[in-house]
Amino acid sequence: MSLVVTDAIVLHAFDYLESSRILRIVTRDAGVRSVLARGARRSKKRFGSALDLYAQGVAQLHMKPGRELDTLSDFDIVRARPQLARQLSRFAGAGAIAELTLRFASDAADPGLFEAVESTLESIGDAAPDAARAVTLAGAWRVLRELGIAPTVDTCAECHAPVDGGATAMFSHPAGGTLCERCGHLARSGRRLPPDARAALRDWLNGDEHSLTTADEGRAHQRLLREFLHEHLTEDRPLRAFDAWERETLTAGELISEATQ
Ligand SMILES: [Zn+2]
Repeated sequence: MSLVVTDAIVLHAFDYLESSRILRIVTRDAGVRSVLARGARRSKKRFGSALDLYAQGVAQLHMKPGRELDTLSDFDIVRARPQLARQLSRFAGAGAIAELTLRFASDAADPGLFEAVESTLESIGDAAPDAARAVTLAGAWRVLRELGIAPTVDTCAECHAPVDGGATAMFSHPAGGTLCERCGHLARSGRRLPPDARAALRDWLNGDEHSLTTADEGRAHQRLLREFLHEHLTEDRPLRAFDAWERETLTAGELISEATQ
């Protein structure tokens, strides 16, 4: 058995047997882990609020080779994020980010991914209700970049020629991003992205802020992201929290149950 002490964020939590909880966490030094918090429900003293969704702290993990479930012996909380649950658009956005991370990250150390999730949850928690969608979009693209599957924005995904940043350009999901004019004409399918949509994508992939002015813009970007995920990542399983975030018509209770399944 080896002990790993690492920064961690709770992305999913559910009760296990009578007294324990199982958490899925993203860590700085050990990737995404499933951990057993023994006695977490019996004694509030032991873990306190540290095991709430999106709480961040220093976790002590006991790992056994060949076992998928680590044992959590201590979680020293640094940051609780109750503000994420207080507002529907924030909660839906955080759920989508958590789902992307849990579904597609590995158990390899990945500080860049950890920091992308950390800063995205911070930004969503600070976001005004009408800004939460853009902040979530930004975070999702940044997480994808950390996972190594970012689309091209200013280079042709087929022939690698530069693509004028101020032009409307074809975006092809199978090709993996923006296409130059010549490759765009040859592409069998794709979406035409106007310059402002490309600017948003460019900024988000670089970790920069980029706010959206209309709800339609936000929905178009959500659709682009969903199509990209579908092309490059999803197996057959649906992304339930992501879908709930995109619909944003659910009640808070439905969202919570979707996000935690
Ligand atoms: Zn090209």
